[in-house]
This record gives sequence, C-alpha cells and structure tokens, in this order.
Amino acid sequence: MKATNCPVCSSVETEIRFINLGKYNIVKCNKCTYHFTLPVPTTEELDQYYKAQSIFFVGSGVDTFEGYLLNPLPYRERYLNRVKRLKEFKSTGQLLDIGCAGGIFLDCARDSGFTVEGVEPSETGIELCKKLGLSVQKGFFLNMKFDSQYDIITMYDVLEHTLYPKEEVSKVYSMLKPEGIFVITLPNIDSLLARLHGSKWDMIGFPEHLNYFTPKSLSLLLKNNGFEILSVRTFNGEPNYTILVLIKGVLRAMGFFSDKKTAVNNADSSAQTNSNNPPLPIPLWKQSIKKSLILLRPLIYLLPIFNVGEGLEIIAQKANHNGKVN
Ligand SMILES: [Zn+2]
Repeated sequence: MKATNCPVCSSVETEIRFINLGKYNIVKCNKCTYHFTLPVPTTEELDQYYKAQSIFFVGSGVDTFEGYLLNPLPYRERYLNRVKRLKEFKSTGQLLDIGCAGGIFLDCARDSGFTVEGVEPSETGIELCKKLGLSVQKGFFLNMKFDSQYDIITMYDVLEHTLYPKEEVSKVYSMLKPEGIFVITLPNIDSLLARLHGSKWDMIGFPEHLNYFTPKSLSLLLKNNGFEILSVRTFNGEPNYTILVLIKGVLRAMGFFSDKKTAVNNADSSAQTNSNNPPLPIPLWKQSIKKSLILLRPLIYLLPIFNVGEGLEIIAQKANHNGKVN
C-alpha cells in the first residue's frame, strides 16, 4: 500500500507504521513524526459512529454520561487545574472551549473571571451546559460560523478526533485576537507508554482517534499556521493507571503478550462508580498491590521530564504580522 504525503509538513517520507488495525492503517511521517490514519473515514461514517455512542468525551479517557452526572467532583478538580494553568498565560478575557462536553471546565473558568462560550456536537453535553447556564453552540467547530474574536481558545482532547487538523488550527488562528492564546491537549504518540505498547496502545482506536501527534509534529503544525510556541509539556493520567499500563507495556515489550488490546483502562473506573451501590471492601491482596503501586509512583514523575508522558499539552500565542509575538 502506498502512503500519501504528510498532511502536516507535506513530506513524501511517509511509511506505514501499523498495518491492518481493523480496516485502518497508521502512517508515520519520518520527517515531522506526525501519524495519521488511512483510509480516511468519510464524514458519514464519523457522523454515524458518534450518533451511535451514548458516551462522550470528557477529558482523559472515555466515561459514561451517567458517570459524569453522578460524580462530577473529580472532573471539577481536574478542570480547576486547567484554569490555574491557563491563568499562567492569560488571567482574564473572552474564552471559547471547542469540544466543551458537559461544560464543567467552562463553569470553572467562568468562576475564575473569564467570559466563556463553548462548542459541542453532543446533545447530552449541550443539555448539561444549558443546566449550568452556559452559552454553547451545538455542532462541529469547522462547520460553524462565529462573529466574535477571542482572547483564549482551548481544545482539550479534540484534535485527535478530527478529519482536518490543519484546517482546525488555521481557523482557531483566524478567530483569536492579536496575542490570543491557544491551549491544546491530546495523546502523545511519542510517550513511553505508546512506544511500549505499539499498536496496542490504549489511545489507538478507530474511528475516534484519527491523528496521532508528538511534541515535534504538533509544534510544527502550530508554527506553520502562524503560532508562536509558549510551552510544550507532557503529563500522565491517574498515577495507578499509569503504573499498571507501564508495567503491562514493559511485559508486552518483553514478549509476554500477544493478546488483543485489553481493557487496562478499567484500572481507573472510579469515575464510573454508581453512587447507589455502596463500595465493596477492598481485598487484602488488592491493598498490597495498591501499596506497591504507590512505591513505584516516583517513576512516572520522571516521564514528563523527558517529554514522554502520555498526554501532550502545547500553549501557543497568535503571532503578529511580522511573525513575532508582541
Ligand atoms: Zn510530516
């Protein structure tokens, strides 16, 4: 099978990295390290896929809508951290969150003094946003028209789902005010977990994840579209989950598994706990494993130092006409 040019840097130096993942393959650009899916699903296929989902995406990992409603507190804590991080770059202003899900991040940002708006394709997400009294538009960002210009645009765990990442980034640029800030997070295919698990990495899944970025390729995409990079960093999800996946990845790399992708991500199912059922006592052996995992935690704090954490965050600023940040 012949690979096409890289959509990020146009290089012809592309090769198929993972083949026959269902009907899809993942192609890697050897020049900028961007990974993309071939064949590209049609918009009809994607519409059908997302319509059939009762779930929607709320941050790191996929959770049920019911879980989100029953237990919003962990999300609120996570999103307060996002707001805190954002304030390091812009302390106030008009903010648009693309893919705002149930609106809890927007709610936290509003509480912190930002003027907020959201965009969300999921009907259930829109309903929850409205309950919170948020201003949201239903639809896919690329197909929508906006009258305003924004000080901040955020895109948390969205770009990996889109068919046209270049066009999305370019549209964000056109909608930012001068010196506006763009915050983006997505899975890092250069992470240690991705390297250890290869095509069995939990973040590889179709047709929801179509683009796989590294710090290098996402920085390039942003720079090519007029942005100045202010910060590049990687991070990890819930510590016990990360440790378990890390251990499994080491075993996989040593040849202990030839299995299909298994649900390691169930390790952190706390967000989905139904509050109607009281929690069962934790067996002693599980407690011992939990304690051992805590001892291993320092390991995972090392990963972001080498930019190989599982999540990638880039904060960029709209450059002025001379290509420089004011
Ligand atoms: Zn490339």
